[in-house]
Amino acid sequence: MTPSDLVPDGGSQLLIGGKLTPGGGGVFTTSNPATGAALGHAANADANDMDAAIAAARTAFDTTDWSRDPGFRATCLRQLRDGLRAHLEDLREITIAEVGAPRMFTAGPQLEGPIEDLGYFADLAENYSWETDLGVASPMGIKSSRRLRREAIGVVGAITPWNFPHQINFAKLGPALAAGTTVVLKPAPDTPWCAAVVGRIIAEETDIPAGVVNIVTSDDHSLGAQLVTDPRVDMISFTGSTQTGKSVMAAAAASLKKVFLELGGKSAFIVLDDADLAAAVAYAAFGVCVHAGQGCAISTRLLVPRAQYDQAVQVAAATLGNIKPGDPSKRGTVCGPVISERQLARVQRYLDIAEADGGTIAVGGRRPDLPGWFIEPTLITGLSNSSTVAQEEIFGPVLVLIPHDGDDDAVRIANDSPYGLSGSVWGNDTERVRAVVEGVRTGTLSVNGGIWYSADAPFGGYKQSGIGREMGVLGFEEYTETKLIATGC
Ligand code: NAD
Repeated sequence: MTPSDLVPDGGSQLLIGGKLTPGGGGVFTTSNPATGAALGHAANADANDMDAAIAAARTAFDTTDWSRDPGFRATCLRQLRDGLRAHLEDLREITIAEVGAPRMFTAGPQLEGPIEDLGYFADLAENYSWETDLGVASPMGIKSSRRLRREAIGVVGAITPWNFPHQINFAKLGPALAAGTTVVLKPAPDTPWCAAVVGRIIAEETDIPAGVVNIVTSDDHSLGAQLVTDPRVDMISFTGSTQTGKSVMAAAAASLKKVFLELGGKSAFIVLDDADLAAAVAYAAFGVCVHAGQGCAISTRLLVPRAQYDQAVQVAAATLGNIKPGDPSKRGTVCGPVISERQLARVQRYLDIAEADGGTIAVGGRRPDLPGWFIEPTLITGLSNSSTVAQEEIFGPVLVLIPHDGDDDAVRIANDSPYGLSGSVWGNDTERVRAVVEGVRTGTLSVNGGIWYSADAPFGGYKQSGIGREMGVLGFEEYTETKLIATGC
């Protein structure tokens, strides 16, 4: 790790009420997953810090005109984007080192894409139609002119995971600030610096008022739970595992706050029998290697026509076998490490389960001779969709190959999952592809390699993959309330 202007002495701070502060719980270590070695330390917030952060966000919402000044909010969001741009190379090295994110993806969704997306939300704050005229009606004979108004929902608790920290932090901060809310961001314990450096830029390089954004790093998950239960928080915007999402939703019920959830996935990549099998399978296999498979929307079940199964095994094994896990700081690396020793053990446990269930590890599955938390891209064959590794989210570079018996069967298998986040369809007949697309129950779908990720495109899940949508106008409106005003006339 090269010396960083953003973390000059190897330690990061909290941002609470506009001030950079140490944590009441001391510090905790943040590590480089590519080496297993410590990078430095992060401020370890305690419950008092979280309490102060929530109080600051509440005060900023209730006592300033932040929520009523969209032009100022747009200016602040552009200042934040520009501040991040100014520190781009420093942020890139921190992201590669702390997340294990391959360098090539920092030019896209791991860093540069999300920074630029803040501009979209600044534009939205300025251009959004905050009021809609519903016209005049005479309910019960009383002539009334009606206006529908959108207003900021209040204080938002944003809780995020470690796999794409900037993408997820900015996909919450961008629309939340554009909408006029104030925020307490609690990032994952594995990637505190990625969030803390944003706090530093906010404090030192923007006019974002004190208390509007608070960033609370901690190695203690219970601070997330504290945020969820605090009655001063109006909404929880959570991204993480389905298991944690369920406990967030249950805990939020006590204060009946709005819960917006982006959760896990086990997406299916459907290859129809008229598709270019080799191209489709190679594309799918490459996809599970990206960032070592640590993407919620990566298609990890590959469904191919039964008659072409053996050919698909060959292509997938060749593709996965050719992608060697390696140092994420190197330019050509696609598959870096998984985030932690714990995550590596989780992946290995699933590979053991696959073999115990009668499956075959057709390629990969071993730890390469590297320091850090690496595992080879892996292909599992010989198991049905009801197997544990086809049903549960592994979150590693692991592809499960499953045969299907035609388009309807492929749709049935794709939908035979508790999740409904994303997926892919490859085929040449437009009508058949359309029927498959309409049958699959997921929040996003890629057809023949199309990219759905974009600031203006809502992202989210059906079923146990979540509730609500992130990004786009729909994602922005998640952070608003509606008020209907009827004036007698
Ligand atoms: P996680 O659920 O373990 O943790 C996510 C966050 O929740 C962390 O900040 C954690 O500290 C916090 N947390 C833990 N327990 C909590 C509680 N009881 N109350 C409140 N907060 C709590 O997830 P992770 O391991 O950090 O991330 C991986 C998971 O995230 C995967 O399941 C992945 O699919 C999912 N994910 C989903 C999306 C999406 O947009 N759908 C995007 C990225 C990751």
